[in-house]
Amino acid sequence: MTPTEILKKYWGYSAFRPGQAEIVEAVLAGRDTLALLPTGGGKSICFQVPALALEGVTLVVSPLIALMKDQVRQLRERGIIADAIYSGMRKDDIDRILDNAVYGNTKLLYLSPERLLTELARVRIEKMNVALIAVDEAHCISQWGYDFRPPYLRIAEIRALQPEAPVIAVTATATPEVVQDIQDHLQFGKDRFVYQQSFGRSNLAYVVRRPESKEKQLLQVLEGVPGTSIVYVRSRGLTKEIALSLQRRGISAASYHAGLEPEEKDRRQEAWIKGQLRVIVATNAFGMGIDKPDVRSVIHYGPPDSPEAYFQEAGRGGRDGQLAYAIMLYHPHDGERLRQQFLQSFPEIAEIRRTYRALGSYLQLAVGGGKDVAYDFDITAFVQRFGFEVRTALASLKALERAGHLLLTDAIYQPARLQFIATKEQLYDYQLKNRGLDKLIKSILRTSQGAFLQPVDLQEGALANFLNLPLEDLQRNFRKMASEGIIGYYPTKEAPQLVFLEDRVDPDRLYLDVKQYHFLRDRAQHRIETMIAYVENGAGCRSLNLLRYFGEDPTLDCGICDVCRAKLAAGEEVLTPKKVYADLRARLEQEGDMLLEDLCKNYGAVRAQATKTIVQHLINEGLFILDGRYVRQP
Ligand code: ADP
Repeated sequence: MTPTEILKKYWGYSAFRPGQAEIVEAVLAGRDTLALLPTGGGKSICFQVPALALEGVTLVVSPLIALMKDQVRQLRERGIIADAIYSGMRKDDIDRILDNAVYGNTKLLYLSPERLLTELARVRIEKMNVALIAVDEAHCISQWGYDFRPPYLRIAEIRALQPEAPVIAVTATATPEVVQDIQDHLQFGKDRFVYQQSFGRSNLAYVVRRPESKEKQLLQVLEGVPGTSIVYVRSRGLTKEIALSLQRRGISAASYHAGLEPEEKDRRQEAWIKGQLRVIVATNAFGMGIDKPDVRSVIHYGPPDSPEAYFQEAGRGGRDGQLAYAIMLYHPHDGERLRQQFLQSFPEIAEIRRTYRALGSYLQLAVGGGKDVAYDFDITAFVQRFGFEVRTALASLKALERAGHLLLTDAIYQPARLQFIATKEQLYDYQLKNRGLDKLIKSILRTSQGAFLQPVDLQEGALANFLNLPLEDLQRNFRKMASEGIIGYYPTKEAPQLVFLEDRVDPDRLYLDVKQYHFLRDRAQHRIETMIAYVENGAGCRSLNLLRYFGEDPTLDCGICDVCRAKLAAGEEVLTPKKVYADLRARLEQEGDMLLEDLCKNYGAVRAQATKTIVQHLINEGLFILDGRYVRQP
């Protein structure tokens, strides 16, 4: 099958989007490839389609468990064999999945980076027929990036085990330093392919407002800009509060954050995507992998801590190419809050050491042990026990993570699981003796045939509803049956995992690279200051300011941000593509046909290269005609 046929067969899409086809082609030609596409731009297809086109298994390295699980689920729904391995899974599950990738038909195997490097995985990866190594969220490999994760630095080690397999790295945000780092650290071959478009979004109007009351302003915006909206806020509590206040005013809205039950999250997300819900009020947990083209406004209730995060979140607006608004509601306190948070997020080295020491005693972990072990980790219990402040403790853990000593995952929700341990005959006997449990057992048998062979996932909520039983009673029944040796029962859990990436050392000898620590701190500070400058600087085009941060050298103003609009209203000159077109046309009218070089030369403040790009665009659009070397009007 050709890539297009694969896209059609498994996804039902008739064509690749701009960029995708070139990227897929490069990967299939065996070239190491870096693809920079906007969020929602369809990055996953770029490695999933080649995975199906190639013989063997594709390894996908991905940092976020929730995202990984989501992708695996979607692939399976399309009939593609996919699996995931991450910290916190039981060893026999990991074993089984790795074996399937060696001996079975697994097409895509997702791995969190720290799992990729365990001895358990390495040995098996060596035996696999690896077609391709895909690195999702590839910016995590760079210390210049906003989400540096040390285990990413070791992904290249897998290349030594599978020297034939090409690498594809994908990300939505990268400054020039990060783009370079990705290629260097992943040891890209000479024949590499880098796909990068401009980050510019000509239909997205960036706006900053400094209202007395954010709540009132939010309502005004929602009244003024009809259509679907995302409101980003910084805390779970606020999502609820604001969604409620919108509902009270007759605007259909729901909250969304990482703490919701997975089914509830799906439900709200679906309703919003289908347009049954107008506004979703969310933390930054919302939006990954979502493709809703007609979002008309993305409103921030305050600035996030990096331009990368802002650009990704705001960029969810207007993917259909129609005008959309990225609106920031700003209060000068917000800047101070960001600076305060920043200070707290880089504690003193002594404090980090203290946390490391406490961790050892909390987890009863001896010096010299613990490598690759994952613990359920309850931060609240931890800080209570040692009298730490939550933020400081979290910041210290983060610092230990950035130094490569440990890893704290996002909370992973694992549904309850059940397996019948008794034989079918014993179970039948048991049903006869416990008539009250008969209906329960029957419904499990009906829905989960495999439950005699291996543990199966339970949807306890749905099951309780179906049996018309309170959830607690259902769970009590399961515990009873487990204690009587009829079933194995593993209750739901939702705990972040703490993984030691190195054996535990004596805290006094813990190596912390102070230079690196300071470098990362300075970068974080730079991002925050850039973000604050973005909102506080009312002089230049907002879009230009953002693009410059991403290493672009644009010369034209967007013409639609609040700053450009204010200038236009005041009669000041704003250099927009539209204006350049009008000016160029006027010149053609005055001087008749012109040599392409002459038309592209010396156009005010716009450099020749930029003018050339615009003229080229105008020619492509048929607004100008290129006749030999002369440009004329149609
Ligand atoms: P991201 O770049 O954020 O990882 P995804 O890969 O999750 O984006 O894709 C976003 C959405 O766009 C998904 O729903 C995906 O199925 C859809 N999509 C990707 N490629 C195409 C295509 N060629 N045609 C139509 N829809 C596509």
